[in-house]
Amino acid sequence: MPYATYINKQINIPYLLKIGYGKTAKVGKYLYDKDLMNIALFLGEGIEDILGDVLYKGFAEQGIKVVYKQIVKNIDIEEINKVAFSLPAETNALLGIGGGKALDYAKYAANLLRLPYISMPTSTSNDGFCSPSSSLLVGGKRTTVKSSIPFGVVVDLDIIKNSPKICFYSGLGDMISKVTALTDWKEAALRGQARYNDFASMMSYNSLDILFLKHSTDIMAPEFQRSLTNSLLTSGIAMEIAGTSRPASGSEHLISHALDKISKKPKMHGLQVGIATYLCALLQNNHETEGIKNILTTTGFFDFVKQDTFDKTEFIKALELAPSIKNNYYTILSEPDSFERAVLLLEQDKILQELIK
Ligand SMILES: [Zn+2]
Repeated sequence: MPYATYINKQINIPYLLKIGYGKTAKVGKYLYDKDLMNIALFLGEGIEDILGDVLYKGFAEQGIKVVYKQIVKNIDIEEINKVAFSLPAETNALLGIGGGKALDYAKYAANLLRLPYISMPTSTSNDGFCSPSSSLLVGGKRTTVKSSIPFGVVVDLDIIKNSPKICFYSGLGDMISKVTALTDWKEAALRGQARYNDFASMMSYNSLDILFLKHSTDIMAPEFQRSLTNSLLTSGIAMEIAGTSRPASGSEHLISHALDKISKKPKMHGLQVGIATYLCALLQNNHETEGIKNILTTTGFFDFVKQDTFDKTEFIKALELAPSIKNNYYTILSEPDSFERAVLLLEQDKILQELIK
């Protein structure tokens, strides 16, 4: 690519970044410090009952005004367009608080208006709380659309620790996927089908180290939860730096997207991605395969997924569809023998046999 493409690219990173305990009470102060006094607030369902009192008390203390408030139920892109452009003119920033939908909604609306967006996740089940894209309904279909990276990220670990176990397992699955995603990216670049970015790649590798080199694999341990948050956040920023989702998403994400389209009842993103990562690592003959297997075993990830197994017919259909999910996107699934090899692994691999029935 011409050099000019690089020097013109703008990279954003969160300007406001707070991860710790008791942060909900301080959101008002953080907004005040950045002179963001008039807020449009987007909340996930049930969030206001849990956080409202503490949050609004903090707002009142700092003189923060909520000029618009919405409980997010629907993530249809048309609706977001309408709402975004009808927000009061005095709006300085958009604040999204919730699991996934409220964050995707507010992030996209803020991107349309070129206003600062502050992301406050109530669980860390995927890297969406600090990524440059939103998962929305376009023409009724779940689609990943370009957004912008948050201006601010506030993570209250007091809230995160109370989220259900499935959220931590999902976050773990979304993190481990960097191993196969980075391999796919490298291979695509070697074939001249993707542009590699060393710094983004290093960040994505570092995001894995943060989580797996530091401490025990007890997903309920406070250190693990803090590191998982840091890792997912770093992974989101790696995508921004690369200008593509490549550092965080490869063949394993294609399988998960295909499962979303095919399954009667898709499972949480990171659970699908985690299992697909193990399968894709085997297909890639990835030298980290043993490491992936160990982590997903010792953390209890495989045992957790075993409680509600994948449907084999659906999984095979997803494997068939996966390579065509994205155009001109080389991954291990683009290799002509991958489908057959994958189906054979579902039959023969002891772990996969127990998870996909
Ligand atoms: Zn993901």
